[in-house]
Amino acid sequence: MKIATFTHGGRRRIGVVEGDEIADVTTTDKVPTDMIALLSAGPAALDELRRAAARAPRLALADVHLDAPVPHPPKFLAIGLNYAGHVAETGRDAPQFPVFFNKQTSCVTGPYDPIHRPRVSQALDYEGELAFVIGRRCRHVPKERAHEVIAGYLICHDVSVRDWQFKAQTMTLGKSFDTHGPLGPWLTTPDEVGNPHDLQLSTYVNGERRQHARTSQLIHDCFDQVALLSTVCTLEPGDVISTGTPEGVAGAMKPPKWLVPGDVVRIEIEKLGHVENVVVEEPADTDLV
Ligand code: MG
Repeated sequence: MKIATFTHGGRRRIGVVEGDEIADVTTTDKVPTDMIALLSAGPAALDELRRAAARAPRLALADVHLDAPVPHPPKFLAIGLNYAGHVAETGRDAPQFPVFFNKQTSCVTGPYDPIHRPRVSQALDYEGELAFVIGRRCRHVPKERAHEVIAGYLICHDVSVRDWQFKAQTMTLGKSFDTHGPLGPWLTTPDEVGNPHDLQLSTYVNGERRQHARTSQLIHDCFDQVALLSTVCTLEPGDVISTGTPEGVAGAMKPPKWLVPGDVVRIEIEKLGHVENVVVEEPADTDLV
């Protein structure tokens, strides 16, 4: 099942994607209207969603605005340096311990929404990544049971501001600019994905392929990441974890081919679809003072 969050007629809700249509389940049935409520309600709610989708009215996907599947995740964590090729292109040593960092949840945006080149930097870079969403509250999950707590998979565009990323050791600020967390296009449930560690991932800038790898090349796979993170903190429905990017980022090119306004970044992952974001200058109306 492909579960989307979308806005139509001024109202945001979830729906089930089938081909080029979306089943508008919340018009006719008592299913939750947002993703976190759905996931929190457990497997019975997913079964009800599936039944509701079969009889719900359809909208053309082209007529709705797709939002991030989880617009306000409780946590948004990502891992760095998790493909050997990317480690090599950065010129750094392979880390001895997984390098997790936070993206602030306010950076989350829709799969086809524009991304801002911030006023304070020109070192704007793309990172195509496989991400997953936690389906239930959990702690101390052993690797062999990690699949039980993953609600589904999606694409994360881990947009990065390289100079700000390296101003401080945590990387947090350079990973957290508003609009720098496109997610989507929808949440694909594990039964449709099969093995999440054997998916083709490609990133294109203006049609030119820049990244091309398989998730089988992940150093720490999704299940390793669940085991480690849940050692530290309780994971909750809707938490988003992004699994790292392969080689081919702009910052590793000589000279770097930073993203500029007008560039279109498209990330495709087998079985999950694609996200596509145009780069724009940060607008003047982002001031909120
Ligand atoms: Mg990344």
